[in-house]
Amino acid sequence: MSFDIFNLSLELSKALEKNNYKTPTPVQKEVIPLVKTKQDIMVQAKTGSGKTASFVIPILETLKENKDNKKAKIKVLVLAPTRELTLQIAESFSTLSRFFPKVLSIVSVIGGEKIGEQLLKIQKGCDIVVATPGRLLDIIGKKQIDLSTIEYFVLDEADKMLDLGFVQELDEILKIIPKNRQNLLFSATYSQKVIDIASKITSNAVKVEIKDSTTHVEEITQRAIFVKKEDRSALLRHLIKENKFKSVLVFMANKRATDNIANKFIKKGYEAESFHGDLTQEERNLTLNDFKDKKIDILFSTDIASRGLHIDDIDCVVNFDLPRGTEDYIHRIGRTARAGKSGTAISFLDNENLSHFKLIEKRYNLDIKKEQIEGFDFTLLKNTKQKGTAPVKGKRKSKKDKLREQGLL
Ligand code: AMP
Repeated sequence: MSFDIFNLSLELSKALEKNNYKTPTPVQKEVIPLVKTKQDIMVQAKTGSGKTASFVIPILETLKENKDNKKAKIKVLVLAPTRELTLQIAESFSTLSRFFPKVLSIVSVIGGEKIGEQLLKIQKGCDIVVATPGRLLDIIGKKQIDLSTIEYFVLDEADKMLDLGFVQELDEILKIIPKNRQNLLFSATYSQKVIDIASKITSNAVKVEIKDSTTHVEEITQRAIFVKKEDRSALLRHLIKENKFKSVLVFMANKRATDNIANKFIKKGYEAESFHGDLTQEERNLTLNDFKDKKIDILFSTDIASRGLHIDDIDCVVNFDLPRGTEDYIHRIGRTARAGKSGTAISFLDNENLSHFKLIEKRYNLDIKKEQIEGFDFTLLKNTKQKGTAPVKGKRKSKKDKLREQGLL
């Protein structure tokens, strides 16, 4: 089945072809025609399912009709919980509209970048605003944005937005956008909180549920290898060589470690880089683009890259350090095997983290063979006391604080 069934314009079809989108994903099959019916929609779909294009394509199709030369008015407002996701959505709008006769103006409204430039673009007139709630409220506070012409309101990753405690910000924004609009709400999970917020935003929403589109876990070859901590770098090089991995994302526990190891790999002749929350937004964008364009072969990252990033063609994800939360395991390995491709996820195990890995396996019903690689001696101790990872009670940082520290908000 191709995108032809949607009767899309030549311009959009050409952009899809250039982007190598040949077949609509399940969420696209359901959502594209529904958006065209002008109804409110609630979609349960996760990152990796192609959900972004499922709203970008039909929205663009209606905006294409607008050919007048008057100053653009904001017709689309998309809210997303993090900066990276916001930039990716904006990029999807711009790449898929690149053959339109009239170039659309798309503005990303995010923290960490100069507010002045964003204000200027808004004042010049724009068609689409993709924003994180905090920065959008700053701009609304300055009375520098007219949202009265919004026709489409998209809330992406609603569950994460609520998890991060953005309820109040959302309420503020909802107060000032026109009541008469089409609402599209996307969420990976449907908790009571999500249902409550959906009832504030949508009316008679059509519900779409896309099962197991998440991470295509079944397409990922999962491996777990015992290795001494001090041998992990050498084992990583061995695995890259042996498997001819060309694009590898390596997750590590802390920022400094990613910098150190990236430098070591560069010295050994690899195209490597580190990626973490201490980089400026500009540096992060550059690094990500280089990784996407295959100028970087190995990216050493903290969990900043585990959610929602559109990087295709990663051959292998490595858990150099295991993730703290069991959920993060799925988010991390989901960076490979995207859009129907296959991929490998490798976790490095030792006597300290084995019990934590077993918890991950239990949570997701996995039973991964524990390997040892020739030349990398390892002694498995029986009944070793495992190091706990639980933080001291009462001193736990909120998810919002943690993301802020990483520079994600
Ligand atoms: P998303 O779920 O929106 O984060 O998209 C996941 C990835 O799939 C992105 O890198 C998209 O560029 C890619 N993608 C989306 N739709 C398609 C499609 N129909 N064919 C191939 N790749 C796609």
